[in-house]
Amino acid sequence: MSGKSAPGTRLDRWFGAYAARTHGLKSSETRALFAVASRPEVVSLAGGMPFLDALPMEIIAKVTADLIATEGAVALQYGNGQGHPVLRGHITEVMAEEAIQAHPDDVVVTTGSQQALDLVTRIFIDPGDVILAESPSYVGALSVFKSYEAWVEHVPMDDDGLVPQALQDAISRLKAEGRRIKFLYTIPTFHNPAGVTMPVDRRAEVLDICHREKILVVEDNPYGMLAFDGSITPAMRSMDEEGVVYLGSFSKTLAPGYRTGWAVAPHAVREKLVLASEASILCPSHASQLSIAAYLETCDWRGQIADYRDVYRIRCEAMLESLEEYLPQCRWTVPKGGFYTWVTVPEGINTNAMLPRATTALVAYVSGTAFYADGQGSRHMRLSFCYPTPERIREGVRRLAGVLDKEIDLVAMFGPHATGPGRDVHFPAPDIV
Ligand code: PMP
Repeated sequence: MSGKSAPGTRLDRWFGAYAARTHGLKSSETRALFAVASRPEVVSLAGGMPFLDALPMEIIAKVTADLIATEGAVALQYGNGQGHPVLRGHITEVMAEEAIQAHPDDVVVTTGSQQALDLVTRIFIDPGDVILAESPSYVGALSVFKSYEAWVEHVPMDDDGLVPQALQDAISRLKAEGRRIKFLYTIPTFHNPAGVTMPVDRRAEVLDICHREKILVVEDNPYGMLAFDGSITPAMRSMDEEGVVYLGSFSKTLAPGYRTGWAVAPHAVREKLVLASEASILCPSHASQLSIAAYLETCDWRGQIADYRDVYRIRCEAMLESLEEYLPQCRWTVPKGGFYTWVTVPEGINTNAMLPRATTALVAYVSGTAFYADGQGSRHMRLSFCYPTPERIREGVRRLAGVLDKEIDLVAMFGPHATGPGRDVHFPAPDIV
């Protein structure tokens, strides 16, 4: 018998052995395009990668070298499942900046907030359970939800984030249909991909609805400290300790290579998260945790985050000015922090169909459909301003304008691309998250 197998097809020898949920796992159609997009001549407005050149690398190198020299046998050893107590203590100080009062015992350290998302979903979701999520929502979260066979119900947003009345309507409708809603997943601050932020009074309204309807809120907040003007919007968790599971991360404020994030949860939920995490990974990386702890203890991390904010503010300004100049036929959100703006293209244009032509023109973006569980989003794209320099951002938007103009001509000649709803979440390439 031939030993050759092609994964994901009937030629795969193990096709019949996969769990039912595995059959839903498909890699993104855009993966191949992203391989192209990572070529240096392409301006990538696609990735959510922080600009690490802004970090004080020499200081980080020294802190890490000292750690290994003096405490190597501890740093390179297994640690405890909940995370190192010293780092958990520092995490409470970081969260205090967003008005969260938590004890180190409330914190569970995870392998990035992505693992925290996985754990929360694992402990709450049975196949078919409903997760409410913003419309659009974070592609990496949708992938996790899909892998646990959740049903994602998108709730409309406006320029102030999730719309409370739409949330209430969705809950009432789903409950009337007898569906089991397990939690609301929200990114209230500098949303990925929408770029918008929910004001405090709206946060209170959303929490009120969820409290009344007995729905847990999962607040995902990797960008909250990256307000361009340095202001901080209080986290939802600071307004409701029992009803919110809060997810944080060092990926955007420090560096994603540490793969270190955390969850803060009500006591009983926290216990389950720790057990699920131990079953999954035994413990988060001790070396990463102790490196971050040493960095936070010895370096001016607040100053370093302020440097990041300046970098992203200048890049966001370059993005918004370029959009004004080159894409007047589009609409976009105006972020006050974070990495992204969400662009709406003229009617009839399909950003999925346009993407191969954009990469040929040496510019890349993420098509809006990546951010929906149900096939919507083809009139949108996410543009990231975090990684390219302001000059490259301008050049990228200029190239995009050329592609869009041709697309508008094509649509005028041949009519709009066929689009249609369907539930098809694909696993994203790592560089688009
Ligand atoms: N949540 C959101 C909204 C994100 O944008 C990301 C990364 N792009 C994550 C979670 C995962 O981040 P990490 O695992 O690196 O902490």
